[in-house]
Amino acid sequence: MKASSREDYFDIKDDLLYHIDQNSDRKSRLMISKALEEEIFELAHRSHHVEFHRTYQHIAESLYIRKLSIRLRKFIEHCSNCLLYQTRRHQSYEELQFIRTMNVFFHTITMNFVMTLSISQEEYDCMLIIIDKFFKRMMMISSKTTYTAEQ
Ligand SMILES: [Zn+2]
Repeated sequence: MKASSREDYFDIKDDLLYHIDQNSDRKSRLMISKALEEEIFELAHRSHHVEFHRTYQHIAESLYIRKLSIRLRKFIEHCSNCLLYQTRRHQSYEELQFIRTMNVFFHTITMNFVMTLSISQEEYDCMLIIIDKFFKRMMMISSKTTYTAEQ
């Protein structure tokens, strides 16, 4: 049975609807209702939290879910365990280096913003704190969170 202009073919066996792939392997896959998608994703992914491609292949082997790739990616992106235990793929941090200061006033300074303070009468809502590394002298400058770099 041809159902649409998108060249989707379907078959019914034992009251179950199958999608017949016309593009690659001509295999028939059981169609899953939207109500069961989340449960299928849970079963395929949550047991071992395998990455996207293996989970995708596991599902696509025998089931048909429209836009499976997009929906599965979204599901895995929001998996709390994967977010918590993900492997870091950036370069490892190198050994930290001391900041070598010169014994010169204001040669080396640190700058930090203290944000979300209560709004003053002059409508300042944050503070820029500048500390000279040699003299340990501190300057506090009232500022606004709406300031741009030029201001
Ligand atoms: Zn996961």
